Amino acid sequence: MRKSGKKVWLILTALMLLAAAAAGALFLREQRVMALAREDAVTELFCRDVMSVGNDEVHLSLAEIVAGEENYSLSYEETGKITISDMEQAVIALPENASDADITVYSGEEAVFAGKAEQFRFFYPENGTYRLEAVCYVEGSTVTTKGEELRAEGTERYSAQLEYAIPMKISFQTDHIKEGSVITVTGSGVRGEVIISAGEVAAPFPLVTDSRGYAKGLFSVSYITPPGTYSGIIETREGVEEFTFTVVEEEYTVQHLIISEETQSSTIGSSDNRDAYNAMIDVTYDSWFPTRFYDDCFTQPVDGVVTTEFGLFRYTNDNPVPTRHAGVDIADDEGTPVLAAASGYVIAAGYNGVSGFTVVIDHGFGVRTYYFHMAELSVEQGKFVEEGTEIGKVGSTGYATGPHLHFNVMVHDNSVDPWATFNGTSGIFGLDMEA
Ligand SMILES: [Zn+2]
Repeated sequence: MRKSGKKVWLILTALMLLAAAAAGALFLREQRVMALAREDAVTELFCRDVMSVGNDEVHLSLAEIVAGEENYSLSYEETGKITISDMEQAVIALPENASDADITVYSGEEAVFAGKAEQFRFFYPENGTYRLEAVCYVEGSTVTTKGEELRAEGTERYSAQLEYAIPMKISFQTDHIKEGSVITVTGSGVRGEVIISAGEVAAPFPLVTDSRGYAKGLFSVSYITPPGTYSGIIETREGVEEFTFTVVEEEYTVQHLIISEETQSSTIGSSDNRDAYNAMIDVTYDSWFPTRFYDDCFTQPVDGVVTTEFGLFRYTNDNPVPTRHAGVDIADDEGTPVLAAASGYVIAAGYNGVSGFTVVIDHGFGVRTYYFHMAELSVEQGKFVEEGTEIGKVGSTGYATGPHLHFNVMVHDNSVDPWATFNGTSGIFGLDMEA
């Protein structure tokens, strides 16, 4: 009985020890489960993240997270490959939980870009292979695991091969261009200067290129260019490329005009006058501002009555060879204010015996306006004028038969339809507004 009693105690003790051991094991197991759950929660929160660049995804390579008291460092094999074939793809979308990121781009060992994600879209390197490293900051997220709330923060690193493969493209708005009109030319993937020309039709002019390789410009055809098919060239650092276009006929009116010999000989008949005119006007063709100062429709400089249409064939004193009219003549009372058609720099303001008191304004992108035969001037050369500013008064100075304004619009060296600038249909308005 005693023996058996002793045995019972021994069994009881053994059972108690076993129970204690089991409880201890259970406790340890509970801890491990909790730790795993935390890691799962941290992983869940941080490590399924994807950063995207354009159309391509970049997967997390390393996350270093502090959650509660614990440090987690989670690394992944997977990295991404990014291909940027146009600058619209150079846009980084951060992972959902990232508040900020530092982006570095390496060419070999050398960092060629370092900045924030939103600055990355302005990084426009030569085509080639680079490496992108992104460090994203994840702040103050809360991980809930088994009813326990942990505040977690840290960094996520993303790493990817970055390939720039942006082809250069130059596009013309249309290949059918009316006499006396303007079309837009746009480019992307442009590096260096782009010069466009078309023999007799278009003197060489540059496109305006921004720091992301986008380019734009205006291609004009003079009112006197005969209809037909022509070719031109695009010169870039990559070489010379040809393009073809068709000039489409525009109808112009015909005028027969009698002008006294005296008026003729005292104005355009005089070689001194013609030289003075050329000296004032020719220099305006060299003017160039790669900034657009005009916005929408031009202001008609004077209201008046149209006496000579743009493009008109004029037979003077029964001369069998017509002259052409490069602008529009608007008759109005002597002294009527003449307004600047659009904002720009006054690149000529003075007198000569042909165009009389004359103003020329450069509106940028090769667009210029010419104001002839004024009675007096109210602006000086070199000044910037706002659209609608009075620049002079209607007169009949120079080669004129009565008070009127001769108004001419040129794009590069070609005279184009001024009416299209008043009603907003001119191709000069095809450049987008932020230009
Ligand atoms: Zn005229």
